[in-house]
Amino acid sequence: MVLSLLKSMVTSSRSAATAEAEHTQKGQGAPRVFDFHGGIHPPEHKALSNRAPLVAAPLPREVVLPLSQHIGAPAQPLVEIGQRVKTGELIARAQGMISAPVHASITGVVTAIEPRQIPHVSGLEDQCIVIEREGEIDEWARLEAWRDWRQQEAQDLIQRLQDAGVVGQGGAGFPSAVKARVRERHAIDTLILNAAECEPYITADDLTMRTHPEALIEGLEILASLIGPVCILIGIEDNKPEAVIALEQAIRARRADKRLPPLDSRLEVVVVPTKYPSGGEKQLIKLLTDREVPSRGLPADVGVVVHNPGTVRAVQRAVCFGEPMISRVVTLTGEALQHPHNVEARLGTSIADLLRLAAPAPTGIARLVMGGPMMGFTLESDALPIIKTTNCLLASSPESLPAPAVEQPCIRCGMCEQACPAELLPQQLYWFSKAREFDKAELYNLADCIECGACSYVCPSQIPLVQYYRFAKGEIRSAQHEARKSERARHRFEFKQARMAREEAEKEAKRQQRAQAAQKSAAARADASAAAETTSASAATTTAAAAQPAPATDIKAFKTARAAANIALKKAEKALKAAQDGGESSESDIAKLEANVTAAKTKLASAESALKAASEASESAAPAAAGASTASTSTTGTAAPAADLKALKTARAAANIAVKKAEKALKTAQDSGEGDIPALETSVAEAKARLAKAEGDLKAASEASESAAPAAASASATGAAADLKALKTARAAANIAVKKAEKALKTAQDSGEGDISALETSVTEAKARLAKAEGDLKAATDAAGAAQGTDKGLVASAAAGSAQTTDTGAAGSSAGAAAPAAAAPSADIKALKTARAAANIAVKKAEKALARASESGEGDIEDLQTLLATAQENLRAAEVRLNSAQAGSTDATPAAKGAGELIPEAPKPAAGSVGRGSMASNVTLSQTEIEASRAENLAKRHKQVSIAVKAAEAAHRKAEAALSEADDENRQRLATKVDRTRRNLEHARESLAEVQALVDAQ
Ligand code: SF4
Ligand code: SF4
Repeated sequence: MVLSLLKSMVTSSRSAATAEAEHTQKGQGAPRVFDFHGGIHPPEHKALSNRAPLVAAPLPREVVLPLSQHIGAPAQPLVEIGQRVKTGELIARAQGMISAPVHASITGVVTAIEPRQIPHVSGLEDQCIVIEREGEIDEWARLEAWRDWRQQEAQDLIQRLQDAGVVGQGGAGFPSAVKARVRERHAIDTLILNAAECEPYITADDLTMRTHPEALIEGLEILASLIGPVCILIGIEDNKPEAVIALEQAIRARRADKRLPPLDSRLEVVVVPTKYPSGGEKQLIKLLTDREVPSRGLPADVGVVVHNPGTVRAVQRAVCFGEPMISRVVTLTGEALQHPHNVEARLGTSIADLLRLAAPAPTGIARLVMGGPMMGFTLESDALPIIKTTNCLLASSPESLPAPAVEQPCIRCGMCEQACPAELLPQQLYWFSKAREFDKAELYNLADCIECGACSYVCPSQIPLVQYYRFAKGEIRSAQHEARKSERARHRFEFKQARMAREEAEKEAKRQQRAQAAQKSAAARADASAAAETTSASAATTTAAAAQPAPATDIKAFKTARAAANIALKKAEKALKAAQDGGESSESDIAKLEANVTAAKTKLASAESALKAASEASESAAPAAAGASTASTSTTGTAAPAADLKALKTARAAANIAVKKAEKALKTAQDSGEGDIPALETSVAEAKARLAKAEGDLKAASEASESAAPAAASASATGAAADLKALKTARAAANIAVKKAEKALKTAQDSGEGDISALETSVTEAKARLAKAEGDLKAATDAAGAAQGTDKGLVASAAAGSAQTTDTGAAGSSAGAAAPAAAAPSADIKALKTARAAANIAVKKAEKALARASESGEGDIEDLQTLLATAQENLRAAEVRLNSAQAGSTDATPAAKGAGELIPEAPKPAAGSVGRGSMASNVTLSQTEIEASRAENLAKRHKQVSIAVKAAEAAHRKAEAALSEADDENRQRLATKVDRTRRNLEHARESLAEVQALVDAQ
């Protein structure tokens, strides 16, 4: 019985609604009215306040004006305490793109700028400017009045809306100037005046339309001139016949006024059947145009802009009369008021003062609500000001708005689903919100919930469903805020890393310039000494062993021995003298001391002769040592050429990047037609010349150093060491992934929730990846050890002076060292390509988020701009790293290829490998934690998107099943639903493919 009664309140029959709508429309060609899913018919209670005329509230004694009466950044105060201000004077200016200024709503003196409690569901305080009225004066500071506004530029009109602080009066207070710029991004064909005012008790829009219909028509014309719609539709519920008549009369009068230009757009009043919440933006769009705003989308996505009557009137007053937004119409209603009616009140007026105008009943107010009974919120105090979005003050008696009943368990009756105008699954959302499974609630489109309360209204278990959704939304917002904060921190860190990398690249370029200069002078010296080197090298080879630094060491030792012998002699002489002078020593003692002196003298003589001989030998060996030194320099002095090659390769990479940048700048200029194209062409030519020169220098240096086999082996070993480092990092990341997978599995096993088999598979796969990483590392470690051994053999061979052995050993070394050196570069480049792709995706995402935020006005624009800048910087850095690595890889390839062929020719120096290894090492070491964190985030994202796909598949299956069983009446609606769920599914699958690609690349 109860259920059938409740069901009677739920309207889901399209034919009934359409018939009612068609009944309301008169005559041929009247716009068709469609229907939206769900909805309810709660008692209206509008008659309480819509019978009395709209009146102006008396000027308040004091106003409290919050700096944040709109969505977006709060305004910044421009006044000081004690300053006198006029009505309409700017007292706080807008900050940022999404913001609105605040104007004085009375003439008086600023008495405080301080935090005061504001009318918000949070009950928190916010910064406010308090103005005390000056006597009975109401002195205005208006902007210039533009009665002939058609002569103004669109940009000036939009600026006027911004300067006048006009914001949406029907919702969250979105700045109207931003909304008026929607044409820049969307093609708009329909402007809708949302005059449905479906919420019970509220009649502010009704009285505004009845009292100021001409102003509304003119306001709509102003807005239409800015966004250029094909038609203007005034959607109004059929419970406001006076407003319908007033608007139709105003339209007729406007059309009959030949002094004005004819209307550009079709302007019509469309009466819709009374059903809550037909005043919801998406629901009214569906009613009037049969268009569905996509999930998480905006009306502009379907070519529609919606405004509220209060906002449109404020637009007209701001443009035509230069009046900033300093007042609004407020409904004072409820059973606890003896004289409910509507007032036009100055912003900042105390709620208590306004309620007094409506004569509160002696029994008092049981509950004070701001807004209506469905979507409003209870106020704990009446000592609060009204703001730009305050449309109604509902003072209820205990009987009219009783305390909420005790919540009962859900009986899964499905009433909530039938009532939901957003076609959500309120019951599931309730379970997810209650269980704090916010990710699932998000997947079930919690964000699309308009908090209309229809589900709570019909719920037989008296479950305050909307409260659960608000709680879940709050938690999700907090989590997103935290995630954004940590993401910003990560981006700041990466930005810093990228900056450091860029600075290092710049330094490297400068170093390379210096190296080029040095190389030119060295080339001259090298030519002169080339012939001498050939001769001295053979001489040095044969005398190298004898001409080692050992003689110098020997001479030093001989000198030390001579000094010690000298000291010993002096001591012996001193002891003898003391014994002789004292006269107490026996003759035998003195004889012993004399013998000591003699022995010491002999030792000294011996040391001196040894020193003399060594010195003579050293002097005769000096010329040979000099020759050996020269030969040594020519043989082992490959460190400098290797460094030069590295610098030259870096220079070549930098020159290559410079060419690409110059070409890109030229292309951009050519495409846009802006910029100095001849100058850019010159830049490209110069950059190409520099690149050609850098390539020539590098080629010459590479050929000159081809004979330096030992250096090449050494360089390969260094590259292998850097690769080892990368492999160790990969092993560490794989290890972390295993631990995380094991932890997730354990959590799932403990809680009994989650897909255990999938998690077990994850653990197995992670372990396999770890085993592979360990295998790779071991192989590389072994190979590096072998290469080291070969290097040592090379040194020994060189010392033995066998040229043939040296050549063969070099080739062997090449084979040993090049094996890991060949594998690692491709791994490095793959990783760098993945990093570049990820950075590219991040840039695109940041651009998308910024565009969306700019359009909707939601989100922190500055943060998103910083995010985009950081992402772009990261992308540039990733490209620099990849280009450098690819340049090194190209040069390293022949050496790697020749490694297995054991040719008696030294491989090309692997200086490129060193440079690349060094670069990769730097990046890996500094971003180890980031990479691990990325891997974790990617796994998390993969899991979320997989769940989303499953949910989307289930929803689509369900919708298809419903369609297959639908009767004619519901077929069209369900077909639309199937279409929507299919799109959702496609979108989810695309997201999964995107994430999967990243996972695979990882
Ligand atoms: S939440 Fe309420 S309306 Fe929805 S299924 Fe449960 S008992 Fe029914
Ligand atoms: S409050 Fe949300 S879930 Fe409930 S009926 Fe309204 S839109 Fe649907």
